[in-house]
Amino acid sequence: MLSFLISAGSFGQSSLHAKIDKSADKIESKVIDWRRDFHKHPELGNQEFRTAKIVADHLRSLGMEVTENVAVTGVVGILRGGKPGPMVALRADMDALPVAERNDLPFRSVNTGTYNGQETGIMHACGHDSHVAILMGVAEVLAGMKNQLEGSVKFIFQPAEEGIYEPGVTTFGAKQMVEEGVMTDVDAIFGLHIWAAIEAGKIGYRSGPFMAGVDNLEVTITGTQAHGASPWSGVDPIVTSAQAILGLQTILSRNVNIAENPAVVTVGAIHGGIRHNIIPEKVEMIGTIRTFGEEQQTLVHQRIHEIITNIAKSAGAKADVKIGKLYPSTVNPPELTDKMLPSLNAAAGIGNVISMDPVTGSEDFSFFQKEKPGFFIFLGGMKKGGDPLTTPSHHTPDFYIDEAGFVLGVRAMSYFVVDYMGMKK
Ligand SMILES: [Zn+2]
Ligand SMILES: [Zn+2]
Repeated sequence: MLSFLISAGSFGQSSLHAKIDKSADKIESKVIDWRRDFHKHPELGNQEFRTAKIVADHLRSLGMEVTENVAVTGVVGILRGGKPGPMVALRADMDALPVAERNDLPFRSVNTGTYNGQETGIMHACGHDSHVAILMGVAEVLAGMKNQLEGSVKFIFQPAEEGIYEPGVTTFGAKQMVEEGVMTDVDAIFGLHIWAAIEAGKIGYRSGPFMAGVDNLEVTITGTQAHGASPWSGVDPIVTSAQAILGLQTILSRNVNIAENPAVVTVGAIHGGIRHNIIPEKVEMIGTIRTFGEEQQTLVHQRIHEIITNIAKSAGAKADVKIGKLYPSTVNPPELTDKMLPSLNAAAGIGNVISMDPVTGSEDFSFFQKEKPGFFIFLGGMKKGGDPLTTPSHHTPDFYIDEAGFVLGVRAMSYFVVDYMGMKK
């Protein structure tokens, strides 16, 4: 009886869901074709010219107001609903990666290019091709029922999610779109990432900190050069760096509350010296820092500074520690997550919606979430029965996506829009 009352209470939403399901099924093969075309013709960040044109033409054909060249190659389309209500944004990222595809597919990538001066293959090795295709599908589904929409939908096709790291330039598509004012009139934003380690037909989410914030670490330790046979006549930056690296390990084991949230500090490269019997003057180290939430980020940064600076001091060396802030942590606000969970359950079926552990990868969707409430989910893209531990991971030449999960992506994103609008009445 209770369930009857609940479903009766959301009767309007149920009929909209049914309409969405019907259109999503109809459009599935088109979404797959779009994705294969994008997969065959991948483009690096801020160079998504072909992709952006196809997107803009599609949105225009659906009667939307379309703005191009937002944050270099981004496209924004607005669908005005038939009734007044909130502005709900949906986001897809469009960029590919400098990876040479190894999959033998009829729509295998044909593109190559130059990345930071190096010739390379280009591949949709993170699955952003599927995000673009799915959102084009959602655009068509919702445009077909615009008179029933109680609000407007902003379709954000974003460039350069993977970031632009060129000498002197570090930038991210979402950050730049926010700076250009894309979020000012938005009430809430939703986004998804196809995920190679979740079965197609399932959805992963997490309330609170979901994906890590990422920052770059750059350290120079300066000692005093000496003959390798008489180390006492100098200050050895190599031994000092070794102590500093070991010191950094105590941040995770002794400072961070790992029962609450994990964190990572990795030194990825260390350079110093030229010859077996010369103690060099300098050692340089670079690394990556992953944290969940601003409070933890502040703590980890502070400890990195204290540990390296004081270990260097104790050795008579000097340390220069620089931390470059890249993406904030992707955090799903618990209130919005609770509100939208029924939409996920309705789209995927209870049992196919998985609450996930935090992910130490990062997403620049976090920049949108810093502006307005935003909910980010993972859409299953692994073949049914696949092994998440051995399935090729994102950013690798063998990365592969099962397209059977796309239609669920179209339905979930469309449900978010009509359900959010329904709640705001
Ligand atoms: Zn990626
Ligand atoms: Zn990605």
